Amino acid sequence: MGATRSTLSTWKDRKRHRATAAQLAEWEEQYQRHFEDFNRKYFANTLPSYRVTLHDPLIVPGTPAEMSKYIAGYCDKKRRRILLEAFPFPKGEGILLHEMAHIATNVHHGPRFRQEMTRLAALGAPLGPVNLATYVADRP
Ligand SMILES: [Zn+2]
Repeated sequence: MGATRSTLSTWKDRKRHRATAAQLAEWEEQYQRHFEDFNRKYFANTLPSYRVTLHDPLIVPGTPAEMSKYIAGYCDKKRRRILLEAFPFPKGEGILLHEMAHIATNVHHGPRFRQEMTRLAALGAPLGPVNLATYVADRP
């Protein structure tokens, strides 16, 4: 319960980089600020505050390493934490928004989640091509 996952085919891109400790700290701060900006801009500041952390690589709790390597984001609702694969800022912002949409709805990818992603897309939120193709309903 309370755990959600995002899978992105672009995770391999990031593997060309190996984040230094200084980069991790810098990007983490930027993604944290992005969370707060997105919360204001797209959620009317209704989401509770979450701590955003970066991991290189992201190993998802309770998930075998060979599966974790396909997972780019993880939302721990119980501890109010978002764990992100260490994409250079702002490359992972679509993953961040995906996890925020889980906070706003539930841990599944059903109709409620898709409706929320469609709402975010209509507001011009930078969801990225994978989220748009996978979760956003076609509009006329
Ligand atoms: Zn998800």
